[in-house]
Amino acid sequence: MMIKGVKELEIKSMSKQHTPPRVGFVSLGCPKATVDSEHILTRLRAEGYLISGSYQDADLVVVNTCGFIDSAVEESLDAIGEALAKNGKVIVTGCLGAKGDVVRQAHPKVLAVTGPHATDEVMAVVHQYLPKPHDPYSDLVPPQGIRLTPKHYAYVKISEGCNHRCTFCIIPSLRGDLVSRPVGDVMQEAQHLVNAGVRELLVISQDTSAYGIDVKYRTGFWGGKPLKSRMTELAAAMGDLRTPDGERAWVRLHYVYPYPHVDEVIPLMAQGKILPYLDIPFQHANQRILKLMKRPASSENVLARIKQWREICPDLTLRSTFIVGFPGETEEEFEELLDFLVEAQLDRVGAFAYSPVDGAVANVLPDHIPPEVQQERLARLMLLQEEISEQRLKRKIGKTMKVLVDEVGEEGAIARSSSDAPEIDGVVYIENGQHLNAGDFVEVKITDSDTHDLWAEIA
Ligand code: SF4
Repeated sequence: MMIKGVKELEIKSMSKQHTPPRVGFVSLGCPKATVDSEHILTRLRAEGYLISGSYQDADLVVVNTCGFIDSAVEESLDAIGEALAKNGKVIVTGCLGAKGDVVRQAHPKVLAVTGPHATDEVMAVVHQYLPKPHDPYSDLVPPQGIRLTPKHYAYVKISEGCNHRCTFCIIPSLRGDLVSRPVGDVMQEAQHLVNAGVRELLVISQDTSAYGIDVKYRTGFWGGKPLKSRMTELAAAMGDLRTPDGERAWVRLHYVYPYPHVDEVIPLMAQGKILPYLDIPFQHANQRILKLMKRPASSENVLARIKQWREICPDLTLRSTFIVGFPGETEEEFEELLDFLVEAQLDRVGAFAYSPVDGAVANVLPDHIPPEVQQERLARLMLLQEEISEQRLKRKIGKTMKVLVDEVGEEGAIARSSSDAPEIDGVVYIENGQHLNAGDFVEVKITDSDTHDLWAEIA
C-alpha cells in the first residue's frame, strides 16, 4: 500500500539488505504543514535516506499531523494508528504534536512526538532509531566530529549568540542574538563524545543559563522521551550519560549567569549528577557599575544565594571573572568589589583591567580610569584572591577525592578534580601516578597545596 502524499523513491536493482535506510512519510494538513514535510523530506534525502512508498518497506514512518479541527485530529490519530499497525515504528510531528498529550494518550507506542516546524527534532529522532546511511565523504569524519581537545574531555556548545547587550562586549554584534541548538542534537553529540572515550563534557555558550529562551524552552526528544530545551533539564540528561566502562561522565557548566533558575542545578550537583562547579561571570559587585555594564541578572542577591548554594552543596566550586577599572569606577566602588570577594570566598577568580573594544558602547562612557590605576587595582584584587584561594585549597589537605588524569610523565601524573576546569583552573599533581593513563579516573588523597594547585597520592 502506498503512503499518502509521497511518491516512492526506490532503487529497485539493490536488494533491501544493501539499500539505504527507508523512511515512510504521511503528510496531512494545510500548506504550512506541507512545507514542513518538504523540509523534512529534503533533509532525509540529502542525508541519503530513501523515501518509501509503503509501510511494509519502510524502516520507520514519520506522520506529519494536523490538529486544526476535530475531524483533522481524528484523521491524524487514525493515520498514526494505521502506521503503527502496519509498520510499528512511528515518529509524529506537526500541529497535533503541539497539543499536549493527545497523541501519546491515544498511541503510547509512538517513538516521539514533536510540534510543527520541527525538522531538527524529527531528524534527531530519525538518527536515533535509524542511523544515517554510509556516506563515503562525510563518514571519513568520526561521529563525534574532529576535536582539538585531548581524547578524554570535550567542549559542547549548546547555543550561539547572546540576547544581552553588555556595554563592554561586542559579541552580540558579531554573532547575533541567542540561537539555541535543538536539545536532541546536543544530547546526540554528547552521547557520541562519551561513546568515543570522552569523560568530561564542558558545556559552553555565551550564556548557558539562557539556553532555550529563544525557542520558548521547546520540548525536543532524547532517548524516545520528551526533553525540554532548558539548562536544568539538559544538565540532568547529560549527567545520566555513562562512559563505555559504566562511569558517569563529568558534566561541567561554564558561563552561567545568575538568573533565579540557576538555583535548580545546585541539587543536581549535590546529588553527584553533574560536577559541583559553577563558572558564573559576575564582572563586578557594585550595582552602579553593573548597571553601567548592563549585566544580566545583576540585581539578584548574589551573596545570599552563594550562601544558600553552599548549604545545599558544600563541595560547590565557584569560578568567576571580574573587570576592574571600568569607566567611572571610583575607589569606593572598587573596594566594594574587594569586600565582596572577602565575603563570597570564591574558589577561582579571573580578573582583567577594562580595555576598550572597537565598537563597544562603554567606550563613550565618561571618566575612563588611567591605565596605572587600573593595573594597581588589578594587582590588589589578584593579591587578595590569591590569599583566599590559598586558604580554601589548604582546607582540602587530608581529603580524598576523585580526579581525572590529563597527563602522565616520569615525575607522576597531572590531574584535575571537580574544582578544576582544563586550561583555566589549577591542577592536582599525583606524585606516585607514573603508571596511570590520561583519561583515568582515580581516587587520591590530598597531601599539600599552594595558591592554585594541589598535590596528592593515590588513595
Ligand atoms: S558579555 Fe554580555 S553581551 Fe557579551 S556575550 Fe556575555 S552576556 Fe552577552
